[in-house]
Amino acid sequence: MRYRCSVCGQEYPLETRQWQCECGGLFEFESGIQFSDEVVQRGVPTLWRYRALLPVHEDRNVVSLGEGFTPLVRSEIYGHEVWFKSEFLGPTGSFKDRGATVLISVLKELGISTVVEDSSGNAAASIAAYCARAGIHARIFVPAHASPAKLAQIAIYGAELVPIEGPRENSAVAAQEAARDAYYASHNYNPLFVEGTKTFAYEIWEQLGCAPDNVVLPVGNGSLFMGAYIGFKDLAEAGLIDNMPRLFGVQAKACAPIYEAFVRGDEDARPVESGKTAAEGIHIARPVRGRVVLRAVGQTDGKMLAVDEAEIRSSQSDLAQQGLFVEPTSAVAVAALQRLAAVLEPGQMTVVGLTGSGLKSD
Ligand SMILES: [Zn+2]
Repeated sequence: MRYRCSVCGQEYPLETRQWQCECGGLFEFESGIQFSDEVVQRGVPTLWRYRALLPVHEDRNVVSLGEGFTPLVRSEIYGHEVWFKSEFLGPTGSFKDRGATVLISVLKELGISTVVEDSSGNAAASIAAYCARAGIHARIFVPAHASPAKLAQIAIYGAELVPIEGPRENSAVAAQEAARDAYYASHNYNPLFVEGTKTFAYEIWEQLGCAPDNVVLPVGNGSLFMGAYIGFKDLAEAGLIDNMPRLFGVQAKACAPIYEAFVRGDEDARPVESGKTAAEGIHIARPVRGRVVLRAVGQTDGKMLAVDEAEIRSSQSDLAQQGLFVEPTSAVAVAALQRLAAVLEPGQMTVVGLTGSGLKSD
């Protein structure tokens, strides 16, 4: 098990404190493990049913709060038959728990005692919760203007909150400075986070008994989107599914760097001057994983889409009318279904990820 640079191919051991390659390239993770049906522990009602496929050696290092194996709820909306994957039911209220449980378990195994992270919301709350569970000190750099409910959640887990003035990017810069003396448990840079989110795809395959035709997800930095891509790719390589689902990534129009790159036909996203959006979880003007997200969209014959604020709010409300209360960030994916009328065919299976709870959003 090791990291490999996605740009120059240089390899790094799992123990490295570097969070990106010396050339500036993103790390990819090579587990050397192939998916197989036989290793799934079907009696375990969490994502740790895929324990044999996750990069933790000893059971005592598994840091779990019962995450994963979220319900797949069949529904009809905007003329489509869809399955909602209820990721907002995670222990801290978002899909980020998939990434945090795996990342923090590996860090516990490596004997890490202090981590730094930057996030304005769900990722920080999740890292803070799993660090509390693992006995690891977490120092979280947050924008000073972040949502009070999310800040309160991060703080109650005992994480040290460091408010940073200015745009979201300033918190990342501050965390990266602090990473000289502590492990940078970044949900954006560390590929172990995506090792956790790939279980999203495994579960859908188990729950449906096949791969869906389409998967629609909100995209900020793409940590769930890339997990879905890698997970379905694992299943395809193991011969368990015939076709990759088409992956549709959705952004808020006010901040849509990956969508704009898709429309231009570019290989990577350029940073944008963003406007205001209620979808704070994907308010990422400078996405780290733009290139790999665009590649995954292309390889699955998918699309990037963008929706406006009125569509986001009305979809959040329409979903709540079905008993599902999610944050505006998650409603973005539901809103996109209206724009996919001519793309999704009747009789196809479409899964939409409901990524975060409405209880802690504005
Ligand atoms: Zn490199």
